[in-house]
Amino acid sequence: MPEGDTVWNTARVLHRALAGARITSSDFRVPQLATTDLTGWTVRESASRGKHLLLRLSAPDETPWTLHSHLRMDGAWRAYAPGERWNGRPAYLIRVVLRSPGAVAVGYHLHEMALVPTAEEDRLVGHLGPDLLGPDWDAAEAVRRLGDHPEQTIGEALLDQRNLAGVGNLYKCEVLFLRGVSPWTPVDAVPDLPGMVTLAQRLLAANRGRWTQSSTGSLHRGQTSYVYGRRAQPCRRCGTAIRKEELGERVTYWCPVCQPERPGPPAPG
Ligand SMILES: [Zn+2]
Repeated sequence: MPEGDTVWNTARVLHRALAGARITSSDFRVPQLATTDLTGWTVRESASRGKHLLLRLSAPDETPWTLHSHLRMDGAWRAYAPGERWNGRPAYLIRVVLRSPGAVAVGYHLHEMALVPTAEEDRLVGHLGPDLLGPDWDAAEAVRRLGDHPEQTIGEALLDQRNLAGVGNLYKCEVLFLRGVSPWTPVDAVPDLPGMVTLAQRLLAANRGRWTQSSTGSLHRGQTSYVYGRRAQPCRRCGTAIRKEELGERVTYWCPVCQPERPGPPAPG
């Protein structure tokens, strides 16, 4: 599940593969960039902002540009050595290929691809709340933004990237379990909102730099989460069957005992 940590890792892979390199050929397979040719452009750096990827480039006339992409649920970038077999995903999912003398970067099933002047990056990412893994992470600002929507459920508010950028469905479910808070709790009824925000940041930071996402501390398959993806399995704390239901546009997983509903539980599903 690409969340802030996955996107941060991906940005680092691209940075190591391409930063400082001159692009020797580009092949875009999305309609809006079909005629774009980055041959001769230079890669300055690769960065993440929440779940958005920003590949910063210099055009031959040295104007700074940014190639934006978003992984959503299923996108990925891979870096290959020249001549190495591309084993990331099926070829029909390729959306872009960037070649340099030392590496080939291949983007699979990318979303929201756009090439904009770097000065206009805010058009694409300016709406985001503080980035949990950004150099300018600001917990107090994230808490303030969450508090602007007191009646929204905390389960939806944590996913709203305008509040804080980087939490996806996995960490949302896990943070709520670890704090003992039902996903349906209105934001203004959440005890210790700053504590929840701090925990979310700590979880993403702890998983930065590796591809296995764990909230339990275990990296063993099947033991990496408390509730996410564990419908009907026993809660690791109390043994109650983990529940799964829709909340807003996403599903949520939770333990009805460890995360009691206030005032009353939703109808059994
Ligand atoms: Zn439980």
